[in-house]
This record gives sequence, C-alpha cells and structure tokens, in this order.
Amino acid sequence: MKTTSLRAAAFCAMLLGLGVAVVQAQTIAIQAGRLVDPAAGTASTDQVILVEDGIIKAVGAGLAIPAGATVIDLSDQTVMPGLFDAHTHMCLNVNPERDGGNYFFTSLLDPTGYRAIQGVANARAMLEAGFTTIRDIGNAANYADTDLRRAIDEGLVPGPTMHNAGRIIAPYGGQFQLQQDKRDIGNPEYFYADTRDELRKAIRENIHFGATFIKIVIDDQRYIYSPDDIRFVVEEAALAGMKVAAHCWTEQGARNAIAAGVASIEHGTDMPDEVLQLAKDAGVYLVGTEFTEMAIRETFHGLSDQEIHDLHQQFIDRLRRAHRIGVPMAFGSDVVFVKDGYTRGTLTLTYLDNFIEAGIPAADALRMMTTNAADLMGLSAERGAIAPGLAADIIALPGNPLDDLLALRGVSFVMKDGVVFRHDW
Ligand SMILES: [Zn+2]
Repeated sequence: MKTTSLRAAAFCAMLLGLGVAVVQAQTIAIQAGRLVDPAAGTASTDQVILVEDGIIKAVGAGLAIPAGATVIDLSDQTVMPGLFDAHTHMCLNVNPERDGGNYFFTSLLDPTGYRAIQGVANARAMLEAGFTTIRDIGNAANYADTDLRRAIDEGLVPGPTMHNAGRIIAPYGGQFQLQQDKRDIGNPEYFYADTRDELRKAIRENIHFGATFIKIVIDDQRYIYSPDDIRFVVEEAALAGMKVAAHCWTEQGARNAIAAGVASIEHGTDMPDEVLQLAKDAGVYLVGTEFTEMAIRETFHGLSDQEIHDLHQQFIDRLRRAHRIGVPMAFGSDVVFVKDGYTRGTLTLTYLDNFIEAGIPAADALRMMTTNAADLMGLSAERGAIAPGLAADIIALPGNPLDDLLALRGVSFVMKDGVVFRHDW
C-alpha cells in the first residue's frame, strides 16, 4: 500500500509574470472503468471525473482531460463515493483480554490521552478501508473525539471526515451499574442528566467542547427518558442546529424516541413491525448496528453460543423487516472490539455479511453506506455522491459491489477531499 502525505497540497501556487502571484488549480482527472451511482443503484462505464481543489468539477463519458491534469487511471476498477459509518466509536477499544470485554472497566483504565491515540489509529484504519465519513457517537472519555476531529481537519493525522457526539447524555448511571461509594467512576464517559436543567447544561457543555450532534441513551436503566424529556433535548439541540441520535435498546425506548422526533434511533434492537412503521412515518432514521456473532462474542462477555446466535438473529430479523417496511436506514457498525488480523476498518466491513444474511439487495446496502448516511448527517450537499460541487471523496475496487457487496472488502484506492490517501498499484 502506498500513501501520499496528507500535507501534499491539492493545488499549487505558481508565480507568473512580473511578480504577480497566480494560484492555478491543479486538475485531477480520474478515469473510471465503471462508476457506481448508489442513489440510483446503477453503474455507467468509461467515465471521467475531474477534481479541482478537492471538489468534483465534472463527471461524464468522454470528458476532455485538461492539459497538465494529473491522470489517475482506474479504468480497470469500479469507482464509487467513499463509504460512511454512521455509528462508530473511534476512541474506544474494548479489551477482552484485560477487561473481560466490559467497556465499563476499559473506560476506567484508559485515560483521555490514550483514547485519543486509539482514535488516531482507528480513524486511519477506517480511511484505509474506504470509509471517508464517520459519525463518532461518543464514549471518548473527556472529548478525545473532538481532539481527533480537529487533528484530522488540520491534516495532522489521516482520517475520515468526522461528526462527533462528545459525552453521551443519559439518565443517572448512564450505561453502567455504579458503585455507591464511588459514584463518580462513570465520569467522564457519561453526562448523567435527569432534570431539564441538567439536560440543558449537558447539551450546552457538549456543544461548547466540540460536539457536532447530540447522543442520548434512552433506556439502559429501568427509569428511561420520556417523550417529553426527549422532545426537550431535540428542541434544545435544534437551537444550536444540531440533530439528536438516540440509543434505544427496548421497544418503549424506541417508541418514546420516535414520538419525540429524534433524527435517528441507534440499535433499535426490539422494534416490532408497528414501531418500525412509526419510525418510517415520522422519517426517523434507523442506524441498526446489527451485531455479527463475532461482535457479540467480543463485546458482551459471558453469553453462551446459543445466546450469541439468538441475539444476532434478532438483529438480522429486525434488519429484514425494517427493509421490507421501508424505514430509512443508514449503515452503522458500533465496532468497539479489537481482533487479531483485523483493523477497525476491516472489522467494520465484516458487517457486510449482515446485509447478505438478511437478503438486502446490494444497491440498497450501498445507499445505506453513502447517500442515506449523508442525509442523516446533514451532509448531502457536500458528500455522499460523485457529482459536481461535492467533495472528492472517491474510492475504487476491482469488483462490482452492485453484483457482489463483499467486493467492498477489496478497496484499492481512497481519495478524500481530492487527496489520494491510498492507491494500490
Ligand atoms: Zn455504540
């Protein structure tokens, strides 16, 4: 694998004439043997993509390549927009060897600085695998996610374009069972917020420290956020132009979140058809994070093989029904574990098996991994398709993912914002 420096500028400044500085855009021309349009679910052949200053300027067959353009020959590859993962945790590596796969202990033992370094490695691995945009949904200690996003934006380290949630807001206890003599040990992983004042404070502090959307956990305690609680969060977040993602593990949690008008339900583990229909009618996205058996085994310690199988099948059944009903869906993996022989990026791509197992057409899966996720993140005018005016987030692979979704595991070329990050010759 070859990588070019992120600092390699996408354009060059040339001095011409009598001391007049002229900045001339460097054009990149990508020759695409096959170009997939996920929104339409179609592919066209022998296309040319012109990129200038990180932005796609033109796409079409038989486009003239400007003199002096840098030509990237992908004429034997399939080219498509970069992938999205709408539910990631870059700054969390649950360590099954040390902590028995319990991220409560992991979060206690790994401080913010180390979490940020994990984020650097994971973000790079995601980009290598073809993910050019991610939604980091919290569990980043004390805002390691904000620092990671800043470092990526500044070009200090390679990684996808990121949205991040900051500290997760949840009813008292968050996703942990606390110990009454050490009540603070869930901090800073979670903001416990039960009253309106606490909710407003948590939202504002998150925004102040760099969150770009709000993540709430609805229902991991026996007391759960009511529709009114969640509506308050949605309205307060909207004042700052932010969307709300809601972790819902139970049916009641999903019902409350849908009634309150969140942007997305995360996991949606227990959603009967009626509730899926409510989500569809309300235009609420489902980011299903259908755990593979490997993910369940590595993340939830102590389950039997039968329990692992059953939970996985519950996810696959819900994925199949949500697709049949037509709930808007965006791809999200929720990978937090590490596994020998895999990176965070290649582990994320193991989730492609779920689409095949659930019988989801490849074109629909590709939409969930591109245009749908861009819509959920409010990025449709910037990313998620190969079209003039959008950021040049472009990947290539030898196979055709419309015929074989698993071809996405063979990504050979990654460009983000017009800069080539990976090109396997
Ligand atoms: Zn998650």
